Amino acid sequence: MSARSYSRVIHWFRRDLRLTDNTALHHAAAESGEVVTVYIISPWRGEHRWTGPARQEFLCGCLESLEKNLEGIGGRLVFRRGHAVAELERLIHETKAEAVYLNRDPDPHGREVERALETRCRKLGVAVHAFKDAALHERDEALTAAGKPYRVYTPYSKAWHALPKPPVLPRVSELRSSADVKSEPRPTLQTWGLEPSGATLPEAGERAARERMKGALDRVVSRYAETRDVPSAPGTSRLSVDLRHGTLSIRELYHRAVKLGAESKDAETHRSVRVWLNELAWREFYMQILWHWPEVLEHEFDPKFRGLAWSYDEAALVRWRDGMTGFPIVDAAMRELRETGFMHNRARMITAMFLTKDLRLDWRLGEEHFMRSLVDGEIASNNGGWQWCAGTGADASPYFRIQNPWSQTKTHDPDGTYIRRWVPELKHAPTSALLTPPAPGMRISGAAKNYPLPMVEHSEERIRTLAMFQKHKERHIG
Ligand code: FAD
Repeated sequence: MSARSYSRVIHWFRRDLRLTDNTALHHAAAESGEVVTVYIISPWRGEHRWTGPARQEFLCGCLESLEKNLEGIGGRLVFRRGHAVAELERLIHETKAEAVYLNRDPDPHGREVERALETRCRKLGVAVHAFKDAALHERDEALTAAGKPYRVYTPYSKAWHALPKPPVLPRVSELRSSADVKSEPRPTLQTWGLEPSGATLPEAGERAARERMKGALDRVVSRYAETRDVPSAPGTSRLSVDLRHGTLSIRELYHRAVKLGAESKDAETHRSVRVWLNELAWREFYMQILWHWPEVLEHEFDPKFRGLAWSYDEAALVRWRDGMTGFPIVDAAMRELRETGFMHNRARMITAMFLTKDLRLDWRLGEEHFMRSLVDGEIASNNGGWQWCAGTGADASPYFRIQNPWSQTKTHDPDGTYIRRWVPELKHAPTSALLTPPAPGMRISGAAKNYPLPMVEHSEERIRTLAMFQKHKERHIG
């Protein structure tokens, strides 16, 4: 595409809420005299199965920051509310835009909307320019020698690391947007009829994201291999919220981390950078699973485990959700989630294993609660994480690997710092009482009276869960 091919185009912001290294925005600004930038507010109201107030609150903050940043470079963010294709069509008619620029969404629903938009625009004679942006590598880039998608992470990650990575693009520094395009007000929680979550959220927007990135690269990534599994420590980057909302670019993060490793002579830094980059590969591994097998949103990834006898017990689910299981590490994690909209990765694994392997509740119940509560809630990683923990997912992890919450505490929170931070009823419990189960029917020593007894006995539930899988295998697999 040659420079300034168009007089006026639309850039549709989706999960790319930034000016720096934004592929579609960069091209729109370079290829058109004027750019109408629009965010389309989804039309749902009230409860949404997979969205909750914490993430929407963070989104509102990102949009406020984006609006200001656009104004700072001569642009203007237009808000519309409704179904994306209909709203974009209306905007095309109103503005006489000649093309729509967008960054591709990795999720099935987002891609369906893109296809509908392309069909509509073809009829209107308007070009659609869709770019790769949310991932370093999309659907068909990292494939087996036979051209098939990978079902297992390790070979996928080898292929992923070997591929050349796209470069970082400069920040868009100037935009022309006309002032006479109608706009809805910037959304607030009331727009969707939501009440505030009450959670203490990280600061939203591109500036805050860039500060977080600097902090992570200065202090976290070079020590990641040793700190990543300690939920009480600031040992992970906390950048998932920015990758989710696109306030940071995955390319910039990748290249900066690689540079950090390349410029260091310290073996620990090299190892840590590599381990951290592997996490970025996990993110794209789950994206490509969802691209190739969208049915994972309904079914077990491993067809062998479809139809397992998961149970449904509302009271047990509520105790898990509220952090009142009587298992200190599980309760600490569930309360961290409620109070911050975030949960440490190790704690996500512990709570997900507890729901599926100790309570035998359907992993989809946990998946939904996480999606509604997490500010970084992303359907590919969330589904992948849940299925991994349930033992039904894209992983070599066998179903009979069942983590013991008490031993997990010994390994990952040996002095009880994480537990005491989030469960005030256990502030005065001696550390030893947090690391081993109390005798049957007994309270955890030193626990406040309102803290419950463990709701199940882990060793017994482990046997029942193994029996559930075994029975399923005998009946359905042979
Ligand atoms: P870091 O440890 O600093 O990692 C850097 C980045 O790599 C993360 O920001 C994230 O983008 C990616 N990443 C790290 N670990 C994983 C992983 N296991 N799978 C996929 N990507 C990873 N991550 C989400 O972004 N959204 C979710 O909704 C989500 N749900 C999860 C549910 C379960 C049950 C589990 C076990 C994991 C889930 N994860 C999810 C993955 C992981 O827990 C978070 O990405 C991580 O805790 C975010 O913290 P961080 O930014 O400090 O990560």
